[in-house]
Amino acid sequence: MPKRQLSQTSFLPGALAAVVLAVAGCQPTNAVGDPPVTSPVKPAPTSSASSSPSPAPVAAPPFDAERAFKDLTKQTRFGPRYSGSPNYPTMRDWLVSELTKAAGVPAKRQNFTARLGSQSLPMSNIYAHINPTAKKQVMLCAHWDTRPTADQEVDPTRRRKPILGANDGASGVACLLEVARQLAAKKPDIGVQIVFFDGEDYGPQIERMFLGSKYYAKNPAMPKPDYAILIDMIGDKDLNIMREVNSENAATHINDKVWSAAEALGVKQFINRIGYEIQDDHLPLQAVGWNAIDLIDFDYGPWHTLDDTADKCSPESLKAVGTVLLKVIYDEGR
Ligand SMILES: [Zn+2]
Repeated sequence: MPKRQLSQTSFLPGALAAVVLAVAGCQPTNAVGDPPVTSPVKPAPTSSASSSPSPAPVAAPPFDAERAFKDLTKQTRFGPRYSGSPNYPTMRDWLVSELTKAAGVPAKRQNFTARLGSQSLPMSNIYAHINPTAKKQVMLCAHWDTRPTADQEVDPTRRRKPILGANDGASGVACLLEVARQLAAKKPDIGVQIVFFDGEDYGPQIERMFLGSKYYAKNPAMPKPDYAILIDMIGDKDLNIMREVNSENAATHINDKVWSAAEALGVKQFINRIGYEIQDDHLPLQAVGWNAIDLIDFDYGPWHTLDDTADKCSPESLKAVGTVLLKVIYDEGR
């Protein structure tokens, strides 16, 4: 697996992971054995690079990790969650209801039809807007669908089965629902758009992915945000998030905000180095000129297998990402 090679490179003491492999949020774009792609980006600054004293730590905003984790397990209990799966409508309606309760404002559905060859699939992006009239606007987003095929299973008969997507799907949703609750309880000075994309992981071909974000980028339901932060696969118990290459190239200053917040909070799961190059829902947003980054830990063994289950994830990982996002949001209002 390409990620194992990268992992060893990335964690060499003091080494900057200048060599990256191109992988799609959920689909490798280079076959195993292909030569690695050399990153064109400059090495990210490390915390030791600055000689100025660090600012005093800011107390992390509250984030109920256990409550968030319950939302992760709740989603997996719905079973696979892609358009056409038995509990897809149940999951969709639960998410609209839960986001409404969490954000304290009505969540809405953006319905669209994904046309894939002869197939027409009904899909829905789900979103809510806190402080819609504020001058500054930030978008937080994740995908809520799951992969219909466990294509990384070794056994071919298992590859045709759909995954539960505890990390790849449920973790981002669970984290942002809890972030929404905290934002509703203590309104930030800025506007926050929370968007859950459908059809990120339909696949298996890359043309059949990022369907909801592609639609949303062309049909935004809310005003263009100043920037967007996508989270994906952030529930892994062994969470290590590095600066994603496409994010670094397009919006270094947003990555800087995130890693500065993580450093101030002492959140060790954020590692200030360049990591993978990932194709994910941030790319359609970047394609229409938005500043968009992706926070993702692609170094996850059960990726696209039937083993992507809740026991591989942890409340602490959801909290690590949630508290950093909350600090980024509240710092914007200062
Ligand atoms: Zn995936």
